[in-house]
Amino acid sequence: MYVANPTAIKALADVVVSSMQRFRIPLTPENYSLWYEYHIGNNRELQRTMDVIISNSADFDETVLHDLYVTFLSSAKEAEIVRETSVNVQDALRNLISVALRVGVDADEFGAALTELAAMEHTKSTDGLRDLVGHLIGESRKMAEKSQVAGARMRESASKIETLERRLESALVEARTDSLTGLANRRFFDSRLRALAGDAMNSGDELSLLMIDVDRFKRVNDTWGHRVGDELLRHLASTLQRTVRREDLVARYGGEEFAVILPQADAAAAIAVGENIRRALASVPVPLDVTPVMPPATVSIGVSCYQPGDPLSEWVGKADAALYRAKQEGRDQVRYIQ
Ligand code: GH3
Ligand code: MG
Ligand code: MG
Repeated sequence: MYVANPTAIKALADVVVSSMQRFRIPLTPENYSLWYEYHIGNNRELQRTMDVIISNSADFDETVLHDLYVTFLSSAKEAEIVRETSVNVQDALRNLISVALRVGVDADEFGAALTELAAMEHTKSTDGLRDLVGHLIGESRKMAEKSQVAGARMRESASKIETLERRLESALVEARTDSLTGLANRRFFDSRLRALAGDAMNSGDELSLLMIDVDRFKRVNDTWGHRVGDELLRHLASTLQRTVRREDLVARYGGEEFAVILPQADAAAAIAVGENIRRALASVPVPLDVTPVMPPATVSIGVSCYQPGDPLSEWVGKADAALYRAKQEGRDQVRYIQ
């Protein structure tokens, strides 16, 4: 659907809002953007996923809505950050170059910076942008050193670029972080999973995955309320983070599910990590001052190892199936599927 004029925009907004009412979706900015994207039809994957949920008459509960947003729309947000930052960096760079020209610095001296400026028009990826910003800082420092006359003004431009770099960095960190737990979010998990599988395929190193689901979490919400449920998730997240190695990636996979990617860990090592996590949680009282007292939280864990050449979905599917088995066989346990 292409929307150009105010009447059409208003009509689309009406369609979006009334469809949200039909499904009893709370009118939050995140939910609105989901429904807007769904109706405008630009994001085919989102549309397909929502159609499946609708045709199964499944619930769009808070978790589902949040997962949809993180999976399909936060990457759009990252693209926007990149676009805005590139524009700002380009402005700052143009300034720098015009100051340099005015004070008569030899054009050759900042030829590299000019080349970068041209290249920037094509920069789409965050990594590319980050490299470029880093490079520009170096260039602008060099220019400032070269010209004593314009030193102060150049340093000013350079420091503007540095501020932009810090903003870019924190916006990017935010875009890949789960706001409740501070862990990596689902989107970052997906991209690391892909990258690490590629590395493992090249190096032949082992690579394992844990899928972790909190047992009977609904009861926690029902007994102590959603806020206490949230606090428990934060406690679980920090316990997970403490229990694994620095090189392991702990992510919030969605709702009350977590995932850990373990580079250079074979099945035995991954199962041992899973057992450590399970024991660490089951043996320690929950540090929450609530009535009635909350018993230790338990988790079920599924483990699988990456087989080079297998699709990622098969690898994740095996960890999921192992997790399902752990639930079936009584919860609070670790299961592995080869
Ligand atoms: P099981 O042992 O089979 O996993 O049981 P369960 O109760 O943990 O599983 P179920 O999938 O039935 O319920 C998960 C609940 O987790 C439902 C959902 O409301 C809650 N939940 C998901 N995300 C959050 C969150 O961010 N905060 C809180 N407080 N609750 C959440
Ligand atoms: Mg679950
Ligand atoms: Mg659960």
